[in-house]
Amino acid sequence: MFIELTEILRCPRDHAESYLVASPMVMDGRRIVRGAVGCPACRAEFPIVEGVAYFGPAGAAAGGEEAAAPPDYDAAALAAFLNLSGPGGYVVLVGAAARAGPALVEAVPGVHVVAVNPPPGVRPGPMLSLLVSPRALPVRTASVRGVALGAGHAGGGWPAEGARVLLPGLRLVIEGEAAGPLPAGVAELARGAGLRVGQRER
Ligand SMILES: [Zn+2]
Repeated sequence: MFIELTEILRCPRDHAESYLVASPMVMDGRRIVRGAVGCPACRAEFPIVEGVAYFGPAGAAAGGEEAAAPPDYDAAALAAFLNLSGPGGYVVLVGAAARAGPALVEAVPGVHVVAVNPPPGVRPGPMLSLLVSPRALPVRTASVRGVALGAGHAGGGWPAEGARVLLPGLRLVIEGEAAGPLPAGVAELARGAGLRVGQRER
């Protein structure tokens, strides 16, 4: 996990939004390979193992998304749907959408990609951080440039979580163009290529 990512993380537990504090034990450049992030509010400590930060058990986060089959869209299309132009900031890919993570790192230089609950086979890298979080996004409100949700995370509380972490005016992409309405506060821009694209209100 990229150490600077800590600045946009929050404790996923059920209390007022709290920042987290990183405690690296083993670093590789700017990446925490082993260590923990801790919550000063509830004293929870979340381990970082082999570069992956665990905010809950990995098994509970899989959501039935075993297959890492290639997506129906490529990374250039995803970057366009997310309207990612220019370097800086963070984009969050959740569940099956994270299989586009390594290619998106190449497509949008200087943008850090955060893969949450990625399918097997997605490996962390200098510009790709991996998080496992079964219940909610461990990300601060209004802190990222774009969010893409895989089909297994297109329902439940995940769309509202995606909308919450987006900066105003930026984009939420959800796999499955036939599915229902977008979450409150997100206006639909387009449907196509198996995706719904929305924009968070300003
Ligand atoms: Zn906490």
